[in-house]
Amino acid sequence: MRLIAKFFQVIKTKYIFVTGGVVSSLGKGIVSSSLGKLLQARGYKVTIQKFDPYINIDPGTLNPYEHGECYVTVDGHEADLDLGHYERFLNTPTTKANNITTGRIYQNVIDMERRGDFLGKTVQVVPHITDEIKRNIMILGNTGNYDFVITEIGGTVGDIESLPYIESVRQLRWELGKNCLCIHLTYVPYIAAAKEVKTKPTQHSVKLLQEQGIQPNILVLRTEKELSKNICHKVALFCNVDEDAVIQSYDVPSIYEVPLVLAQQGMDEIVLHKMEVPIERELDLDHWKKFLNNMKTAEQTVRIGLVGKYVELPDAYKSINESLLQAATYYKRKLDLRFIHSEKVTEENVADLLMGLDGILVAPGFGQRGIEGKFIALKFARENNKPTFGVCLGMQCMVIEFARNVLGMSGANSTEMDMDTPYKVFDLMEEQKNLTTMGGSMRLGAYDCILEKGSIAHQAYQSDLVRERHRHRFEFNNNYKKQFEEKGMKYTGVNPGTGLAEVVEIPGLKWYLGTQFHPEYNSTVTKPNPLFMSFIEAAIKENQEVLSKL
Ligand code: GLN
Repeated sequence: MRLIAKFFQVIKTKYIFVTGGVVSSLGKGIVSSSLGKLLQARGYKVTIQKFDPYINIDPGTLNPYEHGECYVTVDGHEADLDLGHYERFLNTPTTKANNITTGRIYQNVIDMERRGDFLGKTVQVVPHITDEIKRNIMILGNTGNYDFVITEIGGTVGDIESLPYIESVRQLRWELGKNCLCIHLTYVPYIAAAKEVKTKPTQHSVKLLQEQGIQPNILVLRTEKELSKNICHKVALFCNVDEDAVIQSYDVPSIYEVPLVLAQQGMDEIVLHKMEVPIERELDLDHWKKFLNNMKTAEQTVRIGLVGKYVELPDAYKSINESLLQAATYYKRKLDLRFIHSEKVTEENVADLLMGLDGILVAPGFGQRGIEGKFIALKFARENNKPTFGVCLGMQCMVIEFARNVLGMSGANSTEMDMDTPYKVFDLMEEQKNLTTMGGSMRLGAYDCILEKGSIAHQAYQSDLVRERHRHRFEFNNNYKKQFEEKGMKYTGVNPGTGLAEVVEIPGLKWYLGTQFHPEYNSTVTKPNPLFMSFIEAAIKENQEVLSKL
């Protein structure tokens, strides 16, 4: 009986795979999120997962220069930044099950081998690794919570490391029949000298996929300009794909417009039709369209400076950028986001860099590099009463700057930066001190935080208790709490179980607030994070004040 139920479940859930060809960085994550949004807007329950072919167990140990921001799920998984897109588009939380790497697949299989689970058999890529990939692909579907599971396969077709994934998709396609659909995303370049767009790379990429046993059902062509009907006809003909299933995803000013671009071409209907799912509901994208309309009609600007050390690589702060944009859009403002390199901030240039801004956000991060610039920026922001938001390391810097310059604790620091500091304002917790491994050893995931009534944080969240996500090792040293509070820096958010500091504020200032947690991981298009809303509101007020003085 259980077996039948399980079988029924597997048949009921529909699996959509998204692969990419020609080049990387085409935006598979955005296309997956956009299709997910459309299916959700038709009333279906959707989740999106990412399978990454690299050997790291998770991206937690990766430098942001490698893969951009490390996103964190509520259950404390350090995940690929595409999971951030999935959450921002679908407004549903992801978990560890939504992001698998080759490292985890091999680790599971090797653990099984050591336990003797394979009963003396030779352990091989096919079937053992592919079986483990397939098992992981089906985990969320087997919960019975979803009508559609969209699986994005990282990397580009043709990569050596993608092969076991493509083979697993081939097998599942065979096993699941109509309940499985393959979408391939490729690139159609425009050759300026010839004044022509070229479909050959797409043809080659599809051939490669066919050689590996997969005939895509739908092609999405990434292109800078809209393609003619002729081009789509040609691609359909050469690639064995129905003409209406050749969808184009041309460049649009905002990633949040992509669902509409796909909807215009009926992509959701094509998917439902191919998977033999009856279309029962009209697309309900009202809320989404209102958001986009705000974005398009916004006339006034809000100017925010983001002080961090990865400014050459905006993807390193992806969730912060998007949270600011979402909040600004709700207030019908254009976001003018300026990246300020913390290594380049000096006493001499700080006024030039920050004075004209409406709000300053000091970014999260690790290690010593660029930290002194953050202190200089924060001192300026505090003394000039600029709306200022410190996130994780940014909050720690707020506290350290206050210790040094207001409490007179010269050389105060976090032991992350200086083991011998005379004032260990931030330090490792006892249980962290003996850890020797890096991966997954931080305070990770969602923790409760009690907010003090009357604080900015409480006003923003309109709640006594919130849960936000963490990713850090060092904690505020509560031995100093009294000294800080006496001089005006208040601890307005505290973890109820441990007493650890979560939110600091200087109530005498307009909006000066730091969070040990990362509110940016919990901000979506339909539900922007309340702290980001409150910060942008304060920045808009600042902007009006500055303008009225001109
Ligand atoms: N490096 C700091 C810590 O580990 C802050 C981390 C962060 O900003 N995510 O505590």
